[in-house]
Amino acid sequence: MRKTHIVGNWKMNQSTEEIKSFFNELANESLTSEAWIAPQALHLGLVKELATDKFKVGTQNSAYEDNGAFTGEISPKSIKDMGLHFTIIGHSERRSIFGETHEVLNKKAKKALDNDLTVIFCIGETLEEREAGKVEEVLSEQISKGLKDVASDKVILAYEPVWAIGTGVTASPEQAQDTHAFIRKFLAKETNLNADKTVILYGGSVKPSNVKELLACEDIDGGLVGGASLKAETYKGLFI
Ligand code: PEP
Repeated sequence: MRKTHIVGNWKMNQSTEEIKSFFNELANESLTSEAWIAPQALHLGLVKELATDKFKVGTQNSAYEDNGAFTGEISPKSIKDMGLHFTIIGHSERRSIFGETHEVLNKKAKKALDNDLTVIFCIGETLEEREAGKVEEVLSEQISKGLKDVASDKVILAYEPVWAIGTGVTASPEQAQDTHAFIRKFLAKETNLNADKTVILYGGSVKPSNVKELLACEDIDGGLVGGASLKAETYKGLFI
């Protein structure tokens, strides 16, 4: 049985006051699924302090080396040392804005796993690629190159169609399920991951109003959520 995961990606958002209110408002809520939060790096200490046992905290990025001259990067060794649980690798914003290649992402994923962190590895096609009928080709390449030589039960996949991230447009449950089923088959055939046990999240404008129908799909094991994870009220609404 794969557990349902709701992972909040706060991106470069939230003030210290907003973070305090978020955890205050959720203090008495019992969240029924795995409840994970990835704040911006500067807020990790505060979030770790405020997040009770019902949350797991992680980062939005992680370097491909443990230490050294990598100004601005986040060391996976330090992520572990801080008692954090996971890191997101390969978010489409890291790929498109910061130019992270398959090879860099592969090194980052491996180094995070070496440090015993759970890796949420993001993949997804652009609208242009979808319209050109290239979804499977794009995802296959992202998985084979990004997770090359990775065999671990600490990998979570996040399928995030780029056209659905932060746009308010969500893939239909059918589109998302079809793609998740393809990803799971690909994992079984072409990778060293245990396809049946691997959690595959959907990301792209998930919100309380559409989460139920997405989570009802057989191969969708949770959500990687940006906008709707910022406020306690909407974050809470993602737990069904
Ligand atoms: C994301 O941050 O990965 C994301 C899917 O954002 P949003 O939920 O706002 O579309």
